[in-house]
Amino acid sequence: RIRALLQQLPPQDCDERYCPGLAEEERKQLRAFSARRRREALGQGLAGPVPGPCHGCPCRKCGRRLSKGDPGISASRLGEHFWHPSCFCCHLCHQPLLDLIYFQQDGRIYCGRHHAELFRPRCASCDQLIFLEECIEAEGRRWHPEHFCCLECDVPLRGQRYVMRSGRPCCCGCYDSLFAEPCQACGEPIGANSEEATHQGLHWHARAACFCCSLCRKPLRGHPLTTHRGRLFCSESCSLGRDASSAASTTSDSSDSAFVSAPSPDS
Ligand SMILES: [Zn+2]
Ligand SMILES: [Zn+2]
Ligand SMILES: [Zn+2]
Ligand SMILES: [Zn+2]
Ligand SMILES: [Zn+2]
Ligand SMILES: [Zn+2]
Repeated sequence: RIRALLQQLPPQDCDERYCPGLAEEERKQLRAFSARRRREALGQGLAGPVPGPCHGCPCRKCGRRLSKGDPGISASRLGEHFWHPSCFCCHLCHQPLLDLIYFQQDGRIYCGRHHAELFRPRCASCDQLIFLEECIEAEGRRWHPEHFCCLECDVPLRGQRYVMRSGRPCCCGCYDSLFAEPCQACGEPIGANSEEATHQGLHWHARAACFCCSLCRKPLRGHPLTTHRGRLFCSESCSLGRDASSAASTTSDSSDSAFVSAPSPDS
């Protein structure tokens, strides 16, 4: 329950004491933001039997009708509406609202966390709302500029090159030592600064010296290719020519174009 409370009503969204390291200007904005939400959006649902005059009214969420005497929940900020108790949940995360505490916006009810996020981005690292003008955005998540740090060594990555890994940034050095795949051709790891070609779960440097036909050395980037036991070939005839003695009995695994990707977007 404590976990759910912290999830739905993050204390750092309304109390600066939970936000170490805020500048005075951010503090001021947080206070004003929190006061406005309290004044204009915060409410607590009221549980009770649906009164006679509201017999047959549709549940605000699911639309099924409530009968007189059914258990229902009303919310003073949304007027004469009722919800089934199980329908009284956040419009975004669909979690039942603890203690029926809701925030309303445009006729919808939200948990505190998701109501706040309608107006302010939330830092993926410290889980606090961002009141600065500037924030860093990558793969749909956002960060305080000073919290955009390598997932492994914590070095700040603002203005640096990085690679996104499971939604978090990784510096090039850590990426190379932790995640770089070995190249099928030369055996060296494919670092964050090199282009990578992948095909059927195997990896190559995208450069012509590595991503090329095993027999005739023709570069294969952007060209059709076939593979046999992890080796690349430009054509069926090169694939068959790889080993004259076994050529008669084998077929290639596949034939289509490889996917060539640049693994590291510039920050
Ligand atoms: Zn309902
Ligand atoms: Zn929610
Ligand atoms: Zn942060
Ligand atoms: Zn690092
Ligand atoms: Zn290579
Ligand atoms: Zn070839």
